[in-house]
Amino acid sequence: MVLKLNKVTKRFGTHTAVDQLSLEIPEKEMFGFLGGNGAGKTTTFRMILGLLDATEGEISWNGETINYNKSHLIGYLPEERGLYPKLTVKEQLIYLGKLRGMHKNDVLTGLKAWLDRFQVPEYLNKKVEELSKGNQQKIQFISAVLHEPKLLILDEPFSGLDPINVEMLKEAVVDLKEQGTSIVFSSHRMEHVEELCEQLCILHKGKQVVQGSLKEIKRSFGKKNLIIHAE
Ligand code: ATP
Repeated sequence: MVLKLNKVTKRFGTHTAVDQLSLEIPEKEMFGFLGGNGAGKTTTFRMILGLLDATEGEISWNGETINYNKSHLIGYLPEERGLYPKLTVKEQLIYLGKLRGMHKNDVLTGLKAWLDRFQVPEYLNKKVEELSKGNQQKIQFISAVLHEPKLLILDEPFSGLDPINVEMLKEAVVDLKEQGTSIVFSSHRMEHVEELCEQLCILHKGKQVVQGSLKEIKRSFGKKNLIIHAE
């Protein structure tokens, strides 16, 4: 098992954002978190990343406690997209790559390959502010995967993307999984996770409603196209 959460709880004051969440994410699998606004998805990711301490419970990776020192092994696409608008894509990624200990040449080689794959090689020297929101999201995705993390956490990666870009990103994510990356991602919508994830967990107000394979979950709910509505 790669990632294990054991009865993890996060409280902010008296408010319980994540309540006794337990799960195991095996190596080379894709795991989906489904839930509406305030379900606790982002808080869970921040605890996995070591950005927030759990109030109770343990998070381990290959049997070791996970903490911020392991962040170079993790790739993270945050829900709040945050790139420097005045930097070019190249400058942006070289800067972020250096923070992760990457050499400039390796950043450039990887970046060019990803831009080719996303059919936007001309973006290399464009300023971030010149790109559409969807294309900025692709650049942020590249920045999350360029250092070849072992674990990739994607917070609502498909929100705000048009269908072509959703497909492009899904294909990229599947390829990364096949190359051995463990992937965790969140979504409000079942349709975004059902074709991708081996396992998923539905969260509501911090509590796990159900967890298992898609087959098990569909059996629990007894219907095909479950949509978790934002509240
Ligand atoms: P969304 O899809 O809207 O991002 P989410 O499932 O990611 O929702 P979280 O952002 O994890 O949900 O929030 C879970 C709950 O914890 C919410 O009620 C939120 O208001 C609360 N919360 C999150 N961060 C903090 C914080 N730093 N201080 C206080 N409360 C917080």
